[in-house]
Amino acid sequence: MDQRTDVRNIAIIAHVDHGKTTLVDQLLRQSGIFRANEAVAERVMDSNDLERERGITILSKNTAVMYNDVKVNIVDTPGHADFGGEVERILMMVDGVLLLVDAFEGCMPQTRFVLKKALGLGKKPLVVINKVDRPGARPAEVVDEVLDLFIELGADEDQLEFPVVYASGKGGYATVDPGEEGTDMKPLLDAILREIPAPKGDLTGPAQVLFSNIDYDDYVGRIGIGRVERGEVHNGQNVVLCHRDGTTKNVKITKLYQFEGLHRVEVEEARLGDIVAVSGIADLNIGETACAPECVEPLPFVQIDEPTVSMMF
Ligand code: GDP
Repeated sequence: MDQRTDVRNIAIIAHVDHGKTTLVDQLLRQSGIFRANEAVAERVMDSNDLERERGITILSKNTAVMYNDVKVNIVDTPGHADFGGEVERILMMVDGVLLLVDAFEGCMPQTRFVLKKALGLGKKPLVVINKVDRPGARPAEVVDEVLDLFIELGADEDQLEFPVVYASGKGGYATVDPGEEGTDMKPLLDAILREIPAPKGDLTGPAQVLFSNIDYDDYVGRIGIGRVERGEVHNGQNVVLCHRDGTTKNVKITKLYQFEGLHRVEVEEARLGDIVAVSGIADLNIGETACAPECVEPLPFVQIDEPTVSMMF
């Protein structure tokens, strides 16, 4: 079993308004500052400002920040209950979840569904008590509420030992000690690197990419977003796309991307554990696997048709 110590993949779970956008924005800005390479740092920050100017949503579905030579992929989760396994599929791309909770408001029912799924899939949680600068913030009580919620949702013993980071996304700081003033977001990034498991698997076996999300772009059209589950994929590689109905199709990966800041950047290759985007495959669908031609092994498609809305509250 190989391990990618230079990658972490997390999903962020947050109730609307609890500060997800502000927090991720701060991580992006500060990871640019922490970076040794000034030129790259400037580029990340410039593009961020540009994005802001254009009025585009700051937090896209996929974001990546570099910290201490580790790429942290941050995947957004739908903030609502779903049908058909959308949440499960997104969670399959990650090894841990960051649960963001407002230090004043506490846990909100709308995040229960996604959290329950994450715990059920055995994902490692990292709890961020956010907006600790708010007057009336009650971080200790909110941690207790999170613990109660985890127990209620059937968290296992490991998950109940969840690490906690206290943060003010707005103030741009985080700390693991609620009594201590933070100065920057490093304690949160350190906690992600320390607590969230690095991707594990087979780095040298035949390539296998599971697509869990679809995006669109005016220039390149349909984009499949997924995780390399085995081996390596290359730009220009011929692969076999396994459709959900059991049929297969020989296709070529004409554009391969990874995420950097808020953007997709073209890359020549990606390896086990990387979250990638692929364009140029017209009829690519969610839940499909691209395989090296010498080993056509589709991964199971997660389809859950239970009536999930009743589980929200
Ligand atoms: P999202 O809906 O979770 O993405 O939340 P936003 O990041 O858009 O923030 C929602 C509101 O909370 C905005 O008015 C922010 O200015 C405010 N906010 C975000 N982070 C903090 C924080 O750390 N402290 C305080 N006091 N307010 C914050």
